[in-house]
Amino acid sequence: MLLTPHILTGVAIISKVQNPILGLFLVFLSHYFLDCFPQKEYSIKNIREKRWSKSLPDFLKVALDIIFGLLIVFLIVGYHPIALIAAFLVITPDGTTLLYHLFPKNRLLEKHWKIHNALNDICQNKKIPVFWGVMSQIAVIIIAIFFLR
Ligand SMILES: [Zn+2]
Repeated sequence: MLLTPHILTGVAIISKVQNPILGLFLVFLSHYFLDCFPQKEYSIKNIREKRWSKSLPDFLKVALDIIFGLLIVFLIVGYHPIALIAAFLVITPDGTTLLYHLFPKNRLLEKHWKIHNALNDICQNKKIPVFWGVMSQIAVIIIAIFFLR
């Protein structure tokens, strides 16, 4: 799933759960839950294949995805440190995957990557039309914004 729906969902969860420890735990788990939905993502093939000279557009896509998610959060709920922590925490699994591509010999990163990938593969239907892969993410964004307000 794109990072914007993850960020919005994470902040929506932390804004509704009274206990911040429990809230952050649920925020973290929400990443894996949302990855189970059919989805289409932009390519970060150059990063995955370590073609660093061509990877700037991939990093820009990731950065814009994060900035867009944070911008929506700040426009709706304003600045709250716990919201920023939740936004960071909820995208940590994908960040960890990026770290794995940078440090493929790290066994802990490799174990996480395998679990994260397995979850994505189990729940992903690769033949899903692009329309539904995009619509699932738009639906998550709309639902998250509803709970943010
Ligand atoms: Zn993920």
